[in-house]
Amino acid sequence: MTIEETNKKPRRNVTANLPKATIVRKQNVTHDLWLIWLKPDVSFGFKPGQYCTIGVDEIERPYSIASSPDEDLIELFIELVPKPDGVLTPLLYDLNEGDQVTIRPRAKGIFTLDQNYTNHLMVSTVTGVAPYVSMLRDLEHNNNLSDAKIYVIEGASFSEEFVYDKELESFDSRYPNVTFVPTVSRPEDPKNKEWTGTTGRANEIVERYLQEFGLLREDTLVYACGHPGMIEDVKERMDRLDFPFKEERFWKD
Ligand SMILES: Cc1cc2nc3c(=O)[nH]c(=O)nc-3n(C[C@H](O)[C@H](O)[C@H](O)COP(=O)(O)OP(=O)(O)OC[C@H]3O[C@@H](n4cnc5c(N)ncnc54)[C@H](O)[C@@H]3O)c2cc1C
Repeated sequence: MTIEETNKKPRRNVTANLPKATIVRKQNVTHDLWLIWLKPDVSFGFKPGQYCTIGVDEIERPYSIASSPDEDLIELFIELVPKPDGVLTPLLYDLNEGDQVTIRPRAKGIFTLDQNYTNHLMVSTVTGVAPYVSMLRDLEHNNNLSDAKIYVIEGASFSEEFVYDKELESFDSRYPNVTFVPTVSRPEDPKNKEWTGTTGRANEIVERYLQEFGLLREDTLVYACGHPGMIEDVKERMDRLDFPFKEERFWKD
């Protein structure tokens, strides 16, 4: 077959036979952040911290799952990457309740809770909080939340981007071993005028909080999820301090 003939061959639609998932609920949170709840046509198992791969028109991307495995629906927290850079998110943004996406039948990823450690310091930027929400919900569902000490640091430019803050504050207030530290990196911005909490980038405050919480490298695992720049910086800082480290980068810098 010549190259011309190969090029004329109709392209095989690799996603045509994939299972579908229906968007049963959608909640817009800011102009570029939203939550969706998916009901897959097939049974879909996963471990807290793993991701699913969904698609529209043959374009597929991975998304960390915020729901816990015992919930009926798969909950995703998505940020719009506008065109021309973003490909799938502009399509997803336009979908509504009742619309369908494809879903790879198996969840993937090793960004899961490591039970070998007593202390878990979980750092994230905006949507990177999703795996931690899943882990906390799962621990609570299985009555295991009192066994581990969990510290969630979530960084965002604006306080409106935290989205899971009420839920994480509720974990913090109900469990003495759970601590939630939201931090805004642009405290001077008018959008943050009501903000009275922690300020600074998540990566820049990690060492301060390690010290404040009295965490030691022997029994603490540091997790970082989301923005690759944040992750690279936390990794460098933790390497210097010789703390064990685990990461999930949402994209390449
Ligand atoms: C394991 C894993 C889990 C992920 N989980 C989530 C999640 O829970 N929620 C979520 O919103 N995204 C998540 N992502 C990112 C997601 O897969 C897509 O890359 C993202 O939604 C953008 O898709 P896109 O097709 O619109 O743009 P892409 O074609 O994927 O990317 C276009 C460009 O934008 C950059 N980019 C990708 N995401 C962002 C971003 N958020 N901000 C700025 N630049 C970006 C890419 O590097 C690329 O240069 C995850 C990625 C991985 C690898």
